[in-house]
Amino acid sequence: MRKIKIFDTTLRDGEQSPGATINHREKIIIAKQLEKLGVDIIEAGFPVSSDEDFKAVSEISSIIKKSKIAALARARENDIKVAWKALQSAKKPRIHTFMSTSDIHLKEQFKISRADALKMSVEAVKFASDLCNDIEFSPMDATRSDVPFLLGVIEKTIEAGASTINVADTVGYSQPAEYGVLVKKIREEVPNIEGIAISTHCHNDLGLAVANSLAGVANGASQVECTINGLGERAGNAALEEVAMNLYARKNFFKAETNINLKEIYATSQMVSSLSGISVQRNKAIVGENAFSHESGIHQHGILANSETYEIINPKIIGKKTKLVLGKHSGKHAAKKVLEEMGFILSEGQLAQVTKKIKDLADKQKIVLEEDIVAIAGDVTKELKKEEQRVVLDELFIETGNKTRPKAKIKLVIDGKSVEAVGYGLGPVDAVSNAIKSVIPQQIFLKDYYLKAITGGTDALADVVVKVSNGSGKIYEAEAINEDIVMASAQALIKGINKALAKK
Ligand SMILES: [Zn+2]
Repeated sequence: MRKIKIFDTTLRDGEQSPGATINHREKIIIAKQLEKLGVDIIEAGFPVSSDEDFKAVSEISSIIKKSKIAALARARENDIKVAWKALQSAKKPRIHTFMSTSDIHLKEQFKISRADALKMSVEAVKFASDLCNDIEFSPMDATRSDVPFLLGVIEKTIEAGASTINVADTVGYSQPAEYGVLVKKIREEVPNIEGIAISTHCHNDLGLAVANSLAGVANGASQVECTINGLGERAGNAALEEVAMNLYARKNFFKAETNINLKEIYATSQMVSSLSGISVQRNKAIVGENAFSHESGIHQHGILANSETYEIINPKIIGKKTKLVLGKHSGKHAAKKVLEEMGFILSEGQLAQVTKKIKDLADKQKIVLEEDIVAIAGDVTKELKKEEQRVVLDELFIETGNKTRPKAKIKLVIDGKSVEAVGYGLGPVDAVSNAIKSVIPQQIFLKDYYLKAITGGTDALADVVVKVSNGSGKIYEAEAINEDIVMASAQALIKGINKALAKK
């Protein structure tokens, strides 16, 4: 088994993600988690770029003991000096310097010749290796560079003291087969490459960052640069969790392994997502909300029998549970299992009621989350027995708008007799409440009304809790869940009324 080093650049390349904001305190928290995750090298920042980056690299250097700390520097003496200064307290420091090698960058951006670029690269590496014994050099935009020129730069920078060469697909242009060939060429044709680590740094502009990184590994790269959740410039960098899990799940194919503590993957992903403010795409591989969720009844049945039927990775390995999403394709078995895990012990009748409600809800809002299920089960188990319900809602009609006085027409069955009523109010809920109160056999007072959206979105379930009293001083509480706020309110109110009437 070859060892593949994981170089995490969440705090440098990832921090450059448009929309990401990671403050100083958060960087420290993430760095500690990356060490716990078993990352070999943490790129903590680009010290010359800002005081904040300098401070972050410097503090992370003094805290982190197990992982190496890398600091980025352009191929300039001052950048390298500042990077080295920031790394002073690092137990295992690395200076990472870079210079473009592609003609488009050299001509259009830097306005220098290939010869100048080579000279600057070599001088920078020499200068850095006088300070630090671990130097990484990145030929920027390597994948769009003239190959013979690139190989020459690599040879000369190794001669100057670089011990890691990072083949940067800076603009995410390469294809896996092509990238693999390039890494292989470097390994076979650079005369002094023996003992030097070849690293990948692939961007995801064409969705190939992880594929390209793995093609690099398959062709001899021994370090992968990546970020948590694939954060990074533009479409991002290679996702650490995907790289690590490919190498884990297909160990026999790659004949390679990493030092990543897989159990920390999910927690790290969640942490970076919440601290960076960039949420993880729901269907993202490995760490997405749906990555280990199964909705179809056939798949759920298989998973319950043996998880390997539909899962190539046991989610426990990354510190996550399999989640059975209950939807309209789900059966009673799955509902029962989920509810039992949540601590609900239901009778057959209640279970059937819950399953039906889940399916009804799934028809309307597509996804039923655990919170929804808890709410539904809680609601069902709290329901009064049928014979205790003196008031039953049959039909409800609402008229409302910005130029209309809210009006509710309601049909109730009270003690077996159908009754109709109309009510007006300040809003639709108030109108419904007035309509109901006008026909029930006893005066009921609404003491408290509380509404909350259980899940986010305009299609979220509404949870209404009411407190009613019949004037005797005793308060009755009732709760109802519905995807319609007015319906939830009407149901809660009727439940409360039934309790008040039943107790009488
Ligand atoms: Zn990058």
